[in-house]
Amino acid sequence: MEIMGVQIRTIVRDNVATRCDGCQGIIEGTPWRVNLLDIVAAEAPVAWTQRPAVNPGPFQFHADPACVRRWMAAKGYLFCRRGEVREIMRPVVIPGDEPRFGLCDGIHRDDHEFVPA
Ligand SMILES: [Zn+2]
Ligand SMILES: [Zn+2]
Repeated sequence: MEIMGVQIRTIVRDNVATRCDGCQGIIEGTPWRVNLLDIVAAEAPVAWTQRPAVNPGPFQFHADPACVRRWMAAKGYLFCRRGEVREIMRPVVIPGDEPRFGLCDGIHRDDHEFVPA
């Protein structure tokens, strides 16, 4: 439209609903975004091709830690119960027959305690 010779562009809002990566429900309002940091450095640098792939996100959730934990469980990630679900999580490699990732906020100073998310 045009008002007094000035072009006013209609503001087009993106109508695509944001879905929660945890429960797949539609998120009303601002999603809670979680990013994963790079994997904690190993003792020796690892070639890119040997790196386990971790998608850094951001992942979007309802503002509910339960949705984030549900997503972690679906991905097979463990969750450090000494930390909390926060916007930035650090993946920690848990050695084993099949190495897994644990996610921790990295704020506590004592040992991680990984539990199924
Ligand atoms: Zn959700
Ligand atoms: Zn921890």
